[in-house]
Formats: sequence, C-alpha cells, structure tokens
Amino acid sequence: MKRFDNASLKHLNSFAVEAHARRLFVLESENDFQALQAELKFNPATDLILGGGSNILLTKNIDGAVILNRMTGKRIIEESADTVLLEVSAGENWHDLVLWSLEQGLSGIENLSLIPGCAGAAPMQNIGAYGVELADVLDSVRVLDMTDGNSIDVNHSQCQFGYRHSRFKTVAARYDLITHIRLRLHRNFIPRLTYAGIDKELDSMGIDKPTAKQVSDAVIRIRRRKLPDPSVTGNAGSFFKNPVVSGSRARLLKNEFAKLPVYPMNNDTAKLSAAWLIEQCGWKGQAMGNAAVSDQHALVLINTGKATGREILDLADAIGESIKRRFDIQLQTEPQIL
Ligand SMILES: Cc1cc2nc3c(=O)[nH]c(=O)nc-3n(C[C@H](O)[C@H](O)[C@H](O)COP(=O)(O)OP(=O)(O)OC[C@H]3O[C@@H](n4cnc5c(N)ncnc54)[C@H](O)[C@@H]3O)c2cc1C
Repeated sequence: MKRFDNASLKHLNSFAVEAHARRLFVLESENDFQALQAELKFNPATDLILGGGSNILLTKNIDGAVILNRMTGKRIIEESADTVLLEVSAGENWHDLVLWSLEQGLSGIENLSLIPGCAGAAPMQNIGAYGVELADVLDSVRVLDMTDGNSIDVNHSQCQFGYRHSRFKTVAARYDLITHIRLRLHRNFIPRLTYAGIDKELDSMGIDKPTAKQVSDAVIRIRRRKLPDPSVTGNAGSFFKNPVVSGSRARLLKNEFAKLPVYPMNNDTAKLSAAWLIEQCGWKGQAMGNAAVSDQHALVLINTGKATGREILDLADAIGESIKRRFDIQLQTEPQIL
C-alpha cells in the first residue's frame, strides 16, 4: 500500500481545486485492504474514499485520510446465450470499461460513454446519461464494511436506486467501501436512441441501423461538443440535479413558463430542466471571481484557472438563491461537497 503525508489533492479532483489530505493511502491489491484496516480506524467524519474525483467539490483540507481504491480487474462470473454477468473492480476507469465491453460484443452501457471516474463510484449516484442509468444493468455491489472488515454483497433492490441517488449516498452506507460492481450485459444489442438527440447525431453520421459501438461514438461526439473537457477546464459535469416536482406543480409552472422543458416521470411527478432555469436567470457564461457557469452548458460550473472550492460553492449558492427567488424551486447539488 502506498502512503503519502500532507498530499495535494489538486490532480485528484476534476475541478482541479487545491486542497490537502493529512494522509493519503493508495490501494492496489487485496493485501492493501487488510493493511489499511490495520493502520486506519476509518472515520467518515474526517476520512474520504475517492475514485476519480469527478463528482466532488473540495472546499477545505481533509483532516484525516483520503483512500484511493485503485484495484483493477474484470472477470466473467456467468454467461448464457443472451447475457454475461461481469464483475468489475472498483478502481477500473468507467469509460475504458464501456469501450472494453463493446470490444467483447457486449452492450448495455454504451449510452454511458465518456462519463469520467471509476467503476466503483458509478453506483453512488446511479450514473445516468442519454436515457440509461447504471441501475438498468447493475446486478449487485460488493462492499467492504470499514467497521469490521467484512465484505457483503448488496443486491439491486438493496441499492435503493433513484434519480442520481442510491443507498450509498445515505448515512446507512457511510462505512462502506465499494470494492466491486457486477453488471449484467447483453450479447444482443437493444438500441436506446430516443433521448437527447442520439438518433439525430447518428443521422448526421449517415447511420441508419447503428451498432452499440456506433451509439457509443454518437454519445462521445455529442458530449465532446456539449461539455467542457475536465482535463482542460476544471469542472464536475452537471453541478445541479434536475428538480423533480409533483405533476400539478409542473402543470402550474408550464402554464406560467410555456417554454420550460418538463419530462413526465412515474407517480405523477415530473423532472424540470435545471439548465433552462439557470439560463432564464441569466447565469450561462457568467463568472464570479475565478468560478463561472460554462458558456457551453448552463448546468456546468467551471474553474476558470485559480478558483478555490469556496469560490465555486459561492457561485453555486448565488445561482440557487436566484432560482429560488424567481421560480420558488430549491436546486439540489449533484457532486459531494466537502
Ligand atoms: C465532464 C463530466 C461529465 C459528467 N457527466 C456525467 C453524466 O453524464 N452522468 C452522471 O451520472 N455523472 C456525470 N459526471 C459525474 C461523475 O463523472 C460521476 O458521478 C462518476 O461516477 C464519479 O466517479 P469518480 O470515480 O470520479 O467519483 P468521485 O468523485 O471520486 O467520488 C464521488 C463519490 O463517490 C464516493 N466514492 C468513490 N469511490 C468509492 C468507493 N470505491 N467506495 C465508496 N465510495 C466511493 C466518494 O466518496 C464521493 O462521495 C460527470 C463529471 C464530469 C467531470
């Protein structure tokens, strides 16, 4: 196990804000998990488990330890004529996993191409994009309970998946270190093309009956156009969740704001476009100090160079207040704020 004292986290978070961890542990093998248990009494109040750092905002130093799970590996657990049950170690890069699965002739996660981060973090907020969520293919998650070192399997229903939500975001899971995820992938490709212009993109690529790889290519092209690249401009993707309101509230809002995009959901609820709300309040492309709202996408907050986490949070708070004043809607943040 690698250990570092007073480690900079600047290159370990996609906002590229400066913060330090009193101790940093890098786990690369099964033995490292045991070594960590012997050395650290994990305290979720002061210690932090980190994947690729693409869904967190660091506004202060970490007083305790940061644990980087970098254990990699993939193995097929079960296969049939139609599906494959794949076990993936948490340290695998998510996008590399998508590309690898396509090379094996497996589909199911092609719409989730180019989402940064590690496989182990994917269940945390039930990553989703272009009409697909991790929950659609996830079979179970293996976690190490940091209180006693025991490993347990958490099945799909125990994961309590929702929109950008899972059990792993709740207090009940604060001692859980995700070590593996199991995905049920398909040998027969079922395209999901209805969301956010994938079919239009395929049209423009001259493709009529796409393969899973071509859907992945289309998603990558759209994302490269729409989202700032975190390796160039610090960001954490969408900073706010799309607000979910009751059906009656959505109808009232739609009467008042005819252009508001509303996506009906189950149980007479509806998702509203947070990006539209933010644009209406004039924030797109606006800066506050060294933090700004991307001029490519109103949901994305960016570090224009030397932003502190606090500056980015101040901008987020100012946006939240103006949405609350104008639409009486409380925006919720997507990344974990520390
Ligand atoms: C440009 C860009 C685009 C994005 N697009 C999308 C998108 O389309 N859809 C989407 O859903 N997200 C998107 N995201 C957000 C982000 O990529 C995902 O949430 C991703 O799953 C985070 O992975 P990570 O490894 O970077 O997690 P981190 O940021 O390192 O961690 C996120 C949370 O998970 C916890 N965690 C991480 N690993 C473990 C583990 N092994 N065990 C226990 N807890 C753990 C951390 O403590 C933290 O609370 C985007 C981000 C960026 C920068």
